[in-house]
Amino acid sequence: MDELTRAEEEELILELKSLESEILLLLDATASDSKPVDLDLPIGRLSRMDAMQQQSMAKAGREANLLRLRQIKSALALASEGEYGFCRGCDEPIGYKRLKARPETPFCITCQAARESR
Ligand SMILES: [Zn+2]
Repeated sequence: MDELTRAEEEELILELKSLESEILLLLDATASDSKPVDLDLPIGRLSRMDAMQQQSMAKAGREANLLRLRQIKSALALASEGEYGFCRGCDEPIGYKRLKARPETPFCITCQAARESR
């Protein structure tokens, strides 16, 4: 895989920054959804189940976003040291195409596949 050009790196860093602020907004907006369901609320059985289901979905979504935010922050930290775009598993360049699809990814496609099959 080729190393990023300066222009590609700058483009991806801009995307990381806008992703970061998007996710922060999202986390902010969903903060109230993931509070425990108040079981004393005078709502029917069905709507209580709905509320609990919605809550667990909101929680799963929040956790995925928190993980993504951590990856974005560490990618930005690497970028500030001029080390963005290299795989944390094998130190090879991750490649522009993969980073374009997921700029926060810490692994190249080979290492990612190896981790997922474990
Ligand atoms: Zn790798």
